[in-house]
Amino acid sequence: MEPWQQELAQTIRTLDQLDVLVPIAQRETMRAVLKNMRLAITPHTAKLIDFANPQDPLFLMTVPQARELDFSPEELTDPIGDEAKSPIPFLTHRYPDRVLVYVTFFCSAYCRFCFRRFKTGQATPGPTADDRERVCAYLRAHPEVDEVILTGGDPLTLVDAQLQEWLAALRAVPTVTRIRIHTRVPVNLPSRITPGLISLLRGAMDATHPVYVVTHFNHPCELAPENIAAIAALVDAGIVVRNQAVLLRGVNDDAVTLRALFKRLTDVRVVPYYLHQLDLARGTGHFRVAIETGIALMRALQGTTTGIALPRYMLDLPGGHGKVPLGTAWLARQEDGAYRAESPLGAAVTYHEPSEKSPT
Ligand SMILES: *Cc1c(COP(=O)(O)O)cnc(C)c1O
Ligand code: SF4
Repeated sequence: MEPWQQELAQTIRTLDQLDVLVPIAQRETMRAVLKNMRLAITPHTAKLIDFANPQDPLFLMTVPQARELDFSPEELTDPIGDEAKSPIPFLTHRYPDRVLVYVTFFCSAYCRFCFRRFKTGQATPGPTADDRERVCAYLRAHPEVDEVILTGGDPLTLVDAQLQEWLAALRAVPTVTRIRIHTRVPVNLPSRITPGLISLLRGAMDATHPVYVVTHFNHPCELAPENIAAIAALVDAGIVVRNQAVLLRGVNDDAVTLRALFKRLTDVRVVPYYLHQLDLARGTGHFRVAIETGIALMRALQGTTTGIALPRYMLDLPGGHGKVPLGTAWLARQEDGAYRAESPLGAAVTYHEPSEKSPT
């Protein structure tokens, strides 16, 4: 067993194990909570949590709460319509040029706000070799798809041999140039980023066939030395690493925390890619921040934060309709045809646009 597998074996998965760190008052309620979404906290993350402080951001993201049983009528089991756009098992095809492939529904740790908890929260079985063959046949029949996003669950919880099978199968489809891996392993299980894994990813790349890693840090406290080392190993190998964060009440819903998160990520060579509005997953209401607040937060960061650290703020529409960027309308057309802008530093500016010249 590799050290990361040993760490997985020592992960907190039961209420009795959790009780040692934080006394559990309502056992029956907690059992009901874990029926919807299983529990897992890795030793690495447990070490970073302040279990004496229920407001600790890492505590909030990982320790189950009774409030997960409160559902609003707007919340859905399949909040972004993954199932609605799934032509074959384990694949979602929503946009013309890229597909999601679910290679496992297992995660190293379970996030209490998980948008795909209707799958990851249960012990849902992953794809078999036949399913993988069907996915590849679909890709061969759809040459317009040039990018495959491995997701789940967490693809990097597969052992090297399983991951290698997926990468080899995808590389045998000539129309797929880009492989993207969506993973929270660099956050919760950095020991998984082994030299063996790095060489496997390197082996799936050449000058025109990249592998991208998109990870998921939500708070600057998640960037411990082990996490930074794991990121450095990926980046040093030539893999571009981007980050998708989720806007979470009590965790990162203030400009100071978001700015620190995006800047620290940038300093360890991770590109902040998206800040997601929390999806309408059932039982996540206590984490939700109003869209208006999210827009105001992003507006506060504009101009006061280096541009290379600023992600786009995104809303994934229910029903499988896809993601849209949210934000301030910085520019508005006036009746006289001029534009009125508000500068990031608060000044009102008028912009007169010259009329278009004919090219000939
Ligand atoms: C989010 C998502 C993607 C990736 O979208 P990008 O904007 O390229 O990051 C692809 N397919 C599905 C079904 C998605 O939900
Ligand atoms: S790592 Fe991703 S899929 Fe897994 S529990 Fe967290 S949010 Fe859900």
